[in-house]
Amino acid sequence: MPVKKPLPGDLEPIETASRDEISALQLERLKWSVRHTYDNVEPYRAKCIEKGVHPDDLKCLADLAKFPFMTKTDLRDHYPFGLFAVPRQKLARLHASSGTTGKPVVVGYTRNDIDNWANLVARSLRAAGVRPGDMVHNAYGYGMFTGGLGAHFGIERAGCIAVPMSGGQTEKQVQQILDFKPDAIMVTPSYSLVIAEEFEKQGIAPEDISLKVGIFGAEPWGEGMRAEIESKLGIDAIDIYGLTEVMGPGVANECIETKDGPVIWEDHFYPEIINPETGEVVADGEEGELVFTSLTKEAFPVIRYRTRDLTRLLPPTARAFRRIGKITGRSDDMLIVRGVNVFPTQIEEQILRDKRLSGNYQILLTRDGHLDNVEIRCETQHELIGKLSAADVQQIAKELQHRIKTIVGISTKITVMEFDSIPRTQVGKARRVLDERPKQL
Ligand code: ADP
Repeated sequence: MPVKKPLPGDLEPIETASRDEISALQLERLKWSVRHTYDNVEPYRAKCIEKGVHPDDLKCLADLAKFPFMTKTDLRDHYPFGLFAVPRQKLARLHASSGTTGKPVVVGYTRNDIDNWANLVARSLRAAGVRPGDMVHNAYGYGMFTGGLGAHFGIERAGCIAVPMSGGQTEKQVQQILDFKPDAIMVTPSYSLVIAEEFEKQGIAPEDISLKVGIFGAEPWGEGMRAEIESKLGIDAIDIYGLTEVMGPGVANECIETKDGPVIWEDHFYPEIINPETGEVVADGEEGELVFTSLTKEAFPVIRYRTRDLTRLLPPTARAFRRIGKITGRSDDMLIVRGVNVFPTQIEEQILRDKRLSGNYQILLTRDGHLDNVEIRCETQHELIGKLSAADVQQIAKELQHRIKTIVGISTKITVMEFDSIPRTQVGKARRVLDERPKQL
């Protein structure tokens, strides 16, 4: 395949600026963002005072390391709007992502924030080789999740035609792609393969599918998966990275000409990599936890937000900005199941709501073809040994499955066993999660 190069007009001046220009812009915006947060977000100001730092102490980019982190716990503690930096009349939209205790993380956007987000997703689409006038089939879920609407506004901003398909209904997805002939698709990588298999089932060859490019994110995926998606759909597969707390999809996006990891849109997000144990900043190229500071966000600014994603910063290639390497794991226990963030504690909470179940459980993750499967193994209480009929057990499983589906948002297979069926660990933490999914290479 010929190497695709950006066309004139594809690039904004900042995308090819010198490092000095980028750093100067970052410092100016960083000073604004830190002061804006300090002045308007009381819990963050309290953290700064406790640490003895003030926005005036920020004289160069490296000074950011003196400031306290923000974490998912902060978001949970101040649920729903406690970390917003503008009065609610200034908000244009809310989104949410799953939290650690069943409470979602809620984020807000002003009109300017929505505008910047749309611009950055549009920039991401251009990086992926999508052109004005192209039709983009958007199979990210619409709703509180940032994926659907985040992509949607960017598609429109890029001058493209948005097809707001959302997730699910695979046969309909395929039919619509065949009928409408879109040029590009936005979807999670795992679901793209389900769509690809439906094409295969219907005997449609990759060269007969209109799609030329796909922009895939919301979950980790590797080069093996890229090769598979590209050959099955006959497209270029491009990586998009983002997270709700920082904005949503489009914090970073890969360029089609290099396909060497998502380029961080550094004019809006300042990245750091830290040692997750000590919190110290590590050098570019070294692996650690990715931390982001928003440079332009008004409603929900984040200062040194710990993403928990483990990766490294790579030098610029196709653009003047740095890139992120592959996400190699997480420094917390969050699982990503079919693109949905799940914490084991959320499952535990649902198990414990049924008094007939003991607190012993295991989550078994496997991959069937390309999709993740989740089995929850739990056991009934000691005093119920021999007292439950098969119908009772079936009912317990059905109820739990329903609760997990409606509250946590994932489909599971439930196996209810008798007391003491799940192995107990003698030392240390119980092994709650058995992740048998093949590693993404
Ligand atoms: P999203 O809409 O991107 O899924 P969430 O806030 O629900 O936003 O989840 C964010 C998390 O999803 C990230 O912290 C990261 O762990 C994971 N993620 C998102 N995009 C990617 C990607 N391209 N590669 C690997 N992991 C990703």
